[in-house]
Amino acid sequence: MPDAPTIFERIIAREIPADILYEDDTVIAVRDIAPQAPVHLLVVPKTAAYPDVASLADADPALLAHVVEVAKRLAAEHSDGDYRLVFNTGAGAGQTIFHVHAHVLAGGLAEGTLG
Ligand code: 5GP
Repeated sequence: MPDAPTIFERIIAREIPADILYEDDTVIAVRDIAPQAPVHLLVVPKTAAYPDVASLADADPALLAHVVEVAKRLAAEHSDGDYRLVFNTGAGAGQTIFHVHAHVLAGGLAEGTLG
């Protein structure tokens, strides 16, 4: 039996609401529902084939590059262009949704820290 659709698949299918900031044939970008920074966006490939960035990097580096490009553009549009790009990879690293997505964090981040 196939896995149940993730929240991102349901957002892409318009089954649950989201603040959609960008969309094209291969990616969608939304505001995170529980922001961890003044600007906290998610860039999500539409395909559900890849649970995390490691599998995406192996299978489709062009799509990964597109995710990074869209993140850069959105950070410039929604903040001052400085941003942190995070791919939680694995439950032990805090990943909770196993459909690859980039966190774009921007605006008032502490200097010189990772947390
Ligand atoms: P992860 O922990 O897998 O790296 O990130 C999942 C992210 O999805 C979390 O930052 C969480 O706040 C966000 N999230 C969870 N449910 C929803 C939702 O229904 N809508 C939106 N826009 N974001 C969500």
